Amino acid sequence: MIPAPATYLRAASLDEALAALAADPEAKVLAGGHSLLPVMKLRIARPSLLVDIGGLDLAGVSSVGEALRIGALTTWDELTRSAELERPALGAFADCAHAIGDLQVRNRGTIGGSLAHADPSADAPAALLALGAELELRSPRGSRTVPLAEFLRGPFTTALELDEIVTEIIVPHPASGAGSAYVKVEHPASGFALVGAAALVEPDATSVVTLTGIGAQQFALAGNDVTASLAQAEIYGDDFAPTEYRRHLAGVVARRALDLAKTRAEEDARWQT
Ligand code: FAD
Repeated sequence: MIPAPATYLRAASLDEALAALAADPEAKVLAGGHSLLPVMKLRIARPSLLVDIGGLDLAGVSSVGEALRIGALTTWDELTRSAELERPALGAFADCAHAIGDLQVRNRGTIGGSLAHADPSADAPAALLALGAELELRSPRGSRTVPLAEFLRGPFTTALELDEIVTEIIVPHPASGAGSAYVKVEHPASGFALVGAAALVEPDATSVVTLTGIGAQQFALAGNDVTASLAQAEIYGDDFAPTEYRRHLAGVVARRALDLAKTRAEEDARWQT
């Protein structure tokens, strides 16, 4: 279908983009367009104004102090090639970037766009939840930092205000000797996660396992006992993958992610020396 008509603004600065959003509550940010344009074509989204932020200087990965800072406009392709993500402790993030869509999607789709879209089957929220990521949000009122766990409010719903833009994703460096991994079983038609699991294993800490594709949004399982936690979890089912099949699959990918994260933790201990 053809999208409803919208005015287009190519923002020359972050301030211009923020002012345009503040002036029109029906405006939407346009980054790579890989999630927004499909929902506009279905007329699920009908923004009056598209504020294209693609020309702004909001891309790149850098290590600042205790954390990685990733510009919201960094594409999946840039992330797959980032030397900063080679550390085994950050393996979940690298796995997720490689697992997204195809080359075309990875060339245009951005990390900020994926998190703002908040698809309950998206890969990045699971990987970044496991790694304890936070988001930097800017509005005409200033900036605020929100943990990803609080930013994600439900399917396609976030804590983002109408006049806010995600500018950065902040990923704390895991402890030395940590390992992480992301494993997914793809839906054969869409490539999205039927079920995906990320795991973070850190020395002297309880392992973290997060899941995507199995419920209203990504969530973390309590402690190390994946099977017991999954038995309690509210899991989504459909004709393709009924609830109990998804529950079983979730256990399988969670254990695979944990095993890979443990192997990487051993590699990370050597990586640091
Ligand atoms: P856009 O489409 O430009 O924007 C998406 C939403 O976020 C819009 O509501 C927009 O207003 C908002 N937005 C964008 N940037 C910002 C910002 N900086 N601040 C505030 N709001 C913002 N994803 C997966 O996880 N796994 C997959 O396997 C996968 N496969 C895909 C296959 C195909 C064919 C396609 C088309 C998409 C696939 N995706 C997959 C989704 C893809 O990862 C996202 O579409 C992409 O990352 C979104 O980024 P974008 O820059 O294109 O966002």
